[in-house]
Amino acid sequence: MEQWINDIFHLTGLDPQLWPQLRQNYGIESEKDFRSLIKKGIWQYIPKGGGKSGQGQIKRLLRLIEPIDGFLAFHAASFYAEQLIFQLKDLPQILNIEVTGSLGKGEVWHSDIDLLISCDEKVENIINVITHLPQISGIIRREPGRAIFLHYRNFPIDIHFCPPGPEQLRKPLVLPWDLYSLKGDLHTHTDWSEGVHSLEEMALAAKEIGYEYLAICDHSWIHASAGGLSPKRLKEQIEAIRKLNDRLPGITLLAGSEVDITESGGLAYEENLLKELDIVIASVHYLYGQNCHELTERIIKALETGMVDVLAHPTHQTVFSNTNNLHLDMERVFKAASSVGTVMEINSFPDRNDLSADLVIRAKRYGLKMAINTDAHAREQLIFSRTGRAIALKAQLEEGDIINTLSLADLQDFLKNRGKMV
Ligand SMILES: [Zn+2]
Ligand SMILES: [Zn+2]
Repeated sequence: MEQWINDIFHLTGLDPQLWPQLRQNYGIESEKDFRSLIKKGIWQYIPKGGGKSGQGQIKRLLRLIEPIDGFLAFHAASFYAEQLIFQLKDLPQILNIEVTGSLGKGEVWHSDIDLLISCDEKVENIINVITHLPQISGIIRREPGRAIFLHYRNFPIDIHFCPPGPEQLRKPLVLPWDLYSLKGDLHTHTDWSEGVHSLEEMALAAKEIGYEYLAICDHSWIHASAGGLSPKRLKEQIEAIRKLNDRLPGITLLAGSEVDITESGGLAYEENLLKELDIVIASVHYLYGQNCHELTERIIKALETGMVDVLAHPTHQTVFSNTNNLHLDMERVFKAASSVGTVMEINSFPDRNDLSADLVIRAKRYGLKMAINTDAHAREQLIFSRTGRAIALKAQLEEGDIINTLSLADLQDFLKNRGKMV
């Protein structure tokens, strides 16, 4: 597979098996062809492409693949860094690779990728290997102990080389955003609403990445354009999840819902139905022209029902907007959440910055816990959690602040008792 295809498929979370079909049916040969297919809106008609919502998501994600005004978003920067590290880590002369600079701190935007490689004296060999990697277009600058390469996406990779310490052994590689080991994802979608894959396909994908559990949180009926579930359909889904759990070993699906918060601050399903779920996440998708005060009141009212385990994408902030797009009074939202033990979601969908690291720090001051969720609409998107892990890193969270680092039993305990602990 050519470099650009491999990268685009990874960064947009597309199933690589779609490629032969695209090539054959649409005569796609280049990235330009691919982009024009998306631009024309044809994607929504491609089987297993996720329909209209899939079309919208690819459009959003394609923006993040190249630098914008010289800056690359974390989603792509971390992927390109990981790709490079993966190709280099087993070279015998390399003892350790460290991600430094803005990427090492989990910043949102990056003007380059900084790496520190500790190696024996054969630096020339390593530089030679890097120069010949398919994603490298050349060397920008050489200095003693340093080389700056140009990535084919037109941004610099700045590598410092240092000699190993006196007794340095080859260390297991730990990426800065891998410090948090997640045991599951608490916000994912399936083909019951607007997702691409079935319950079983999502479960198997979660199992493959080593998760213990996966919460299925399809939309509620209010979000009709996203195929939201009627109360009857939600009941059927809960039953389907219970049945699947009985026959799938090694992974537990949690029956959940991404329940819309109604215009007046209610929840889209009756309390009795919500009580049948393992996890309730709630979110606002329609603003109904409400102002800051009204929206804040609306969310607080929903939290005060005590039924909301996790408030999903609380602010709608993205990497392109430096502010809280919902114009909420977050201090009041955090305070209300802390009185009922509701968890704040760090949504890892790659163009989101929601919560931002600044807001995470403020939420933690109220004693709130966080959940790092992907909001995956396809199984390939389950790996997108590194965006959320970077936000956690920047906010200097500890594992104990993040509920989906808990084992399944501890998570279930937490969800049962969260309201009583405050
Ligand atoms: Zn949502
Ligand atoms: Zn969602």
